[in-house]
Amino acid sequence: MELYNLTLTEIAKKIKDREVSIKDVLDSTFKRIDEVEGKVDAFITITREEAYKEAEKLQQRLDSGEDIGVLGGVPIAIKDNICTNGIKTTCASKMLENFVPIYDATVITKLKEAGAIIIGKTNMDEFAMGSSTESSYIKKTKNPWNLEKVPGGSSGGSAVTVSGEMAFAALGSDTGGSIRQPASYCSVVGLKPTYGLVSRFGLIAYASSLDQIGPFTKNVEDAALMLNVISGYDKHDTTSANIEKKDYTKFLVNDISNMKIGVPHEFVKDGVNEDVKASYNNAIKTLENAGAKIVDIDLEYAKYSLATYYIIATAEASSNLGRYDGIRYGFRAEEFNDLEDLYNKSRTEGFGEEVKKRIMLGTYVLSSGYYDAYYKRAQQVRTLIIENFKKAFEKCDAIIIPTAPNTAFKFGEKTENPLEMYLEDIYTVPVNIAGLPGISVPGGFDRDNMPIGIQFISNSFEEEKLIKIAYTFEKNTNFNVEKPNI
Ligand code: GLN
Repeated sequence: MELYNLTLTEIAKKIKDREVSIKDVLDSTFKRIDEVEGKVDAFITITREEAYKEAEKLQQRLDSGEDIGVLGGVPIAIKDNICTNGIKTTCASKMLENFVPIYDATVITKLKEAGAIIIGKTNMDEFAMGSSTESSYIKKTKNPWNLEKVPGGSSGGSAVTVSGEMAFAALGSDTGGSIRQPASYCSVVGLKPTYGLVSRFGLIAYASSLDQIGPFTKNVEDAALMLNVISGYDKHDTTSANIEKKDYTKFLVNDISNMKIGVPHEFVKDGVNEDVKASYNNAIKTLENAGAKIVDIDLEYAKYSLATYYIIATAEASSNLGRYDGIRYGFRAEEFNDLEDLYNKSRTEGFGEEVKKRIMLGTYVLSSGYYDAYYKRAQQVRTLIIENFKKAFEKCDAIIIPTAPNTAFKFGEKTENPLEMYLEDIYTVPVNIAGLPGISVPGGFDRDNMPIGIQFISNSFEEEKLIKIAYTFEKNTNFNVEKPNI
């Protein structure tokens, strides 16, 4: 047993109790990174030096009897679209390849206040657009369970740092599934909070009405602790919810005996891989055996989520990415004739294929002749989907659904046909469309020993229900204990 094998909660306690020094923990973490990173390529930037400096300061404070916070001395990895003061934040794009923010995102400030040590920035799909991390301009991240397969995306690097035990937790962002789907492909816990619970200040925007930051962890207990740290009102984010803070660790109880769990049978009938379906059915049984009442629900409009998502997300992206014009910051083409040409060349050379495709699609659905037919229609369907969930939550406390219809696929397998890639998000995007929280937990393995994720969804700002159900599920299955052989 090495220190890096411990969970976040366990290592934080060992540090606090002075059983191990923070330097010991960093040594173990970087030893693991040196062993594994060359195989999986999860990081874009590793901040080894800064981490050791921070460790020294924290240790001094601890030694002088100070409380250094609930994450005191714990190494954590951050997706490379979350701004870190003085540390490159690239969005895995040539456009921001050399961008060094001059401020911390609010979540980073909160992590630092809680004593966490940032050990690096992780690989992702360019501007968080994708489901496999293959659209990164920088490198391809491999799945620790099978190096020939993708880790999922867009937060693939963050999922791999936790799955490969190179970090005790990581932050990702989820616009249409980018935390939950890679968590499912890599057998870790991934939590997408309610829209507005976690500040987006300092998160480089993809689609602002859908984006949320959330944690990747080894188990549900750690997810509750991370959520405690990163949630809360922030005056810098106008969509941040000004509500009372909850202590999610209070809901780590193995008891769901008075809870109702909804199963949307119609929605999961077709297009789901056989092994995923089997794990899903087993998960329902596990909850029923643990005392939950299983009820049927109908999410009749959820099947339109994907179409709705790819209109709304691309429309917002086309607007958000308008700022990369080659003038203020980011990549600038070297040769150009005039201003128009500078814009043109900088954007043509600075953005990758997937990003350009989405900017064009988004510009199209917002253009005056098509706005009503596409964008406005998508907003109307969004309302129907929201109402659909509202009605469902009159009948149940939470919904159980697979995280993704398939397990991790091979590199290049879905890049030729983008629609197939987009279909991997079928069970995650409805949650973002409706602004709800969702959690993916390890739910078993397919016949090739690739991880399967099970997702729980609750009503807005009811993360405590997710924590309770996910914790009970974990305690009754223990799939999270299995580690990749790497
Ligand atoms: N795969 C989805 C997309 O490509 C979701 C990405 C995300 O959640 N950032 O847009």
